[in-house]
Amino acid sequence: MHVAIDGPSGAGKSTIARALARKLGLVYLDTGAMYRAVGLKALEQGLPLKEEAPLVEMLSRTRLEIVRRGDEQRILLDGQDVSERIRTPQVSMAASAVSTVGAVRRWLVAMQQALAEGQDVVMDGRDIGTKVLPDAEHKFFLTADDEVRARRRFDELRAKGQEVCYEDILSDLRARDLQDSTRAESPLVCAQDAITVDTSELNIDEVVLCLLALMGRA
Ligand code: C5P
Repeated sequence: MHVAIDGPSGAGKSTIARALARKLGLVYLDTGAMYRAVGLKALEQGLPLKEEAPLVEMLSRTRLEIVRRGDEQRILLDGQDVSERIRTPQVSMAASAVSTVGAVRRWLVAMQQALAEGQDVVMDGRDIGTKVLPDAEHKFFLTADDEVRARRRFDELRAKGQEVCYEDILSDLRARDLQDSTRAESPLVCAQDAITVDTSELNIDEVVLCLLALMGRA
């Protein structure tokens, strides 16, 4: 079974997808982490983040691996575990920038499709229902008001001990929403056959229950 969960930043996709995968005994795959790892490497190498040629050259000497520890996903970039280092506001913006580049998307989409092949997965991202798993049995599009999403991201980063400012997070999130939904390649759009769920007024358990009910698994 393939379950696709798409939506803008901070709509709760990863938390919900992880919980849903656990309940259903499926593997959870966070595709945003893959764009983040590419963004991190491009940042560290000082590359222009939206230029195809240098990014393609970088990808030709990049090894990205997804490994599982229990039901947790870890991401290895050239053999190094970068799962924590990719969760900063700078890397969020870099991920959004490199994700506008067609060659980066094709490289990652091929890897994501290979990972899903022959496995039952819940995958979250921006283009899962439209591009990566167009035949997924279940497709959801999670949304929430941008201020609610920014507050969630702020609380999450603060809980991890990061010094962050709510206003900066809100403006980054709006910039990322705009960039993700207006890019030429696979922009963030709701798949025609996806069910939209607004999570602004719902907690995690309520969203998970709602999705399970929509899947006929409640
Ligand atoms: O989901 P997350 O916030 O970790 O994703 C980081 C960035 O990666 C997004 O802002 C988006 O630009 C990009 N992304 C994408 N397609 C995906 C997953 C993430 O373009 N399937």
